[in-house]
Amino acid sequence: MEIKKVVIIGSGTMGSGIAAHLSNANIPVTLLDLKTEISEKAKERIVNSRPPLLFEKKNINNIKAGNINDDLNVIKEADWIVEAVVEKINIKHQIYEKVFAVRKSNSIISSNTSTIPLKILSENLSEKDKKDFCITHFFNPVRYMGLLEIVKTNTNDDKKIQFLKDFCENKLGKGVIVCGDTPGFLGNRIGVYAMQIALTEAIKKNLSIEEADAVFGRPMGIPKTGVFALYDLIGIDLMADVLKSFIKELPSKDLFHKVGKDIPIIDNLIKTGFTGRKGKGGFYRINKTNNEKILEALDLKTNEYSKAKKIDLGINKVDLKKLINRKDKYGDYARSVVVKIIDYASSLVPEITENYNDIDEALRLGFNWSKGPFEMLEEIGVKDFLKLSENFNNNKFLQKLHESKVEKFYDKRQIYTNIQSLGKVKKLALQIRKSDSADIYKFRDFNIVEFTTKANALDYKSMDDLKRATEKPLIIINESMQFSAGVNLNYVMEFVKNKDFKSIEKFIKYFQETCKTLKYSDHPVVSAPSGLALGGGEEVLLQSNFIVSHTNIVMGLVETIVGLIPAGGGCKEMLWRWSQTKEGKKDPDYAPLKVFEIIGFAKTASSFQEALPLLFLNQKDKVIINRNNLLPEAKLLIEKNKDFNPPVHCKFKLTGEKVRIKMHEILEKLYKDKVIKEHGMEVGKELAYVLSGGNTNFNNELTEEDLYNLELDGFMKLIRKKKTQERILHTLSTGKPLIN
Ligand code: NAD
Repeated sequence: MEIKKVVIIGSGTMGSGIAAHLSNANIPVTLLDLKTEISEKAKERIVNSRPPLLFEKKNINNIKAGNINDDLNVIKEADWIVEAVVEKINIKHQIYEKVFAVRKSNSIISSNTSTIPLKILSENLSEKDKKDFCITHFFNPVRYMGLLEIVKTNTNDDKKIQFLKDFCENKLGKGVIVCGDTPGFLGNRIGVYAMQIALTEAIKKNLSIEEADAVFGRPMGIPKTGVFALYDLIGIDLMADVLKSFIKELPSKDLFHKVGKDIPIIDNLIKTGFTGRKGKGGFYRINKTNNEKILEALDLKTNEYSKAKKIDLGINKVDLKKLINRKDKYGDYARSVVVKIIDYASSLVPEITENYNDIDEALRLGFNWSKGPFEMLEEIGVKDFLKLSENFNNNKFLQKLHESKVEKFYDKRQIYTNIQSLGKVKKLALQIRKSDSADIYKFRDFNIVEFTTKANALDYKSMDDLKRATEKPLIIINESMQFSAGVNLNYVMEFVKNKDFKSIEKFIKYFQETCKTLKYSDHPVVSAPSGLALGGGEEVLLQSNFIVSHTNIVMGLVETIVGLIPAGGGCKEMLWRWSQTKEGKKDPDYAPLKVFEIIGFAKTASSFQEALPLLFLNQKDKVIINRNNLLPEAKLLIEKNKDFNPPVHCKFKLTGEKVRIKMHEILEKLYKDKVIKEHGMEVGKELAYVLSGGNTNFNNELTEEDLYNLELDGFMKLIRKKKTQERILHTLSTGKPLIN
């Protein structure tokens, strides 16, 4: 069997997302809806989606649009037909009647339902048709969410399910968990319960929504949307429907009933059109007055909005044990929420799955938690947790743990896949160092460095770890969302506060030293990025010997956004790469002008395909659709490069003032056109000075060291500027650039 053609019925949020992702895998798709115009509109939405659903825009050509009445013939040829229409059983049943009447034998038909049990979806099908019908539950946005739950029953053809699993794992890059037909499957059953616990406990304990989101968020290894902002994102009305379906499906003794009841505040929000981001706002809203956008939060007691407060818990690293042991209202809330989530998840083993670690993986891939409930349990410690458990008597899993008296029960990870992923390898590897910023593992004859700071920002400790780890072949890779969002600017700003610019210079020099070590060490350095690789993160990539990149990356040298320039070798490395192109070899000003544009406009790439033409990546770099495969591919590169020789040092011939004049002309025009202001001009001129080679001319040869020095000087001049400092502080506190 092969999947060569796919039909998707329903071109809404999910149908279009699945179509886009199949098109990324170069599989032809036809999108059918009630009318062809609806599918055509969906194609437009795909092309304009943010973050982009397509790896590159031209992939849209893999998608055809049609309608369910006139284009039934495409179903005859399809190997896989995905139903993603509205969550209404009668509509879904009507569609299956049409589809099964014409589909070719052997094809697979699946539904993307979130809440309707497989046995109800398939109740009108023949036994033969039931063999080929299952649920494929993708998560939104499909390109970015790793989880795919395939739901099957004993009526299914297991070989087909295995085939579909392999296809979705290898071709679509999904973490595929096959599970039984239980309400909400694995991810939503626990994920939605966790959200309800976080919400109801916040109300019970009188926490404001900002406080609850500040705790049930990054400090727990959960995305910063926490619970209330996540409710707004999903849609408060949609959440209400999901809850209704859980209440309908789950037996009355299920703990869900305690937290799934209607809540007056929520009913009121839905009634008044405050359904979240798609509506007038929700728990949060943006108030636009006097040309200013102010984020406001709902007061759960008074039902009124006021300016959202920033809650500082003084935490910069996930430490669950410390968090739940805090002797304040935040610790109290965290403890109560975490204990109830672990109690619930463990009470469902083996009922919903025999593999408890599948539940963890579902929460990691479907909700972007850094740890699932069972990993949280192990982190807290079995003995300590059992003292806190509120549901021990009804919990076979916890009782067994108690009897076994083990503290470390988590033997294997990620057993849903055969791939020797980082998660699996970490369990087998020897951890040789753990600092506050990174972990170093030794596995066979190579080392692995995994950053562990917030957004994996780089600091002295992570740089130190990188340098140490180059004593062997090295793989730089992460399980968390981001590769690295850059050098830790919070740290830099502490020095700025004390006017200690000497220490900043020392820090940046150390970063340069680190990058040189990566590039020129005797052993190969392979970076395997996924997620953000910005600023300093991108400079690490540019100076690694090999790259194995996930398809979902955001790369760029974005320093100019905060009024700085790359100073860890980013300017130098980009200059080198562009000077090696055909045009660059002909014209010495070609590379400087190209890089001036790329860094000056802080251009970013949001896929491997977009990174190639910018030369952030090279043709020789590898792209991988399944994140779990990053480590095995990186390992393969190390094995293939046993006779590795570090690269030769680059030399540059730049024209100095000659090309700088051209750059200044570009800046003048941008200034005249009001694209940049005075500060933009200053930053642009510093960048121009570095990229033109400073005080040089074409007959002069510059070394890498010369360029590092130019970068450092430029950086130091800019960091002293008030406007740069203001920009950095604004970006650090709001996560957004300062526009003026
Ligand atoms: P949606 O409302 O965005 O899109 C549904 C589409 O189905 C619409 O374009 C509609 O015109 C079309 N449609 C309705 N009746 C049809 C018919 N008879 N023939 C052809 N097309 C028809 O819905 P969605 O959010 O994309 O959800 C689709 C399915 O995916 C649902 O079963 C939902 O439970 C499930 N799901 C949704 C999400 C999510 O986050 N939105 C996540 C996972 C699963």
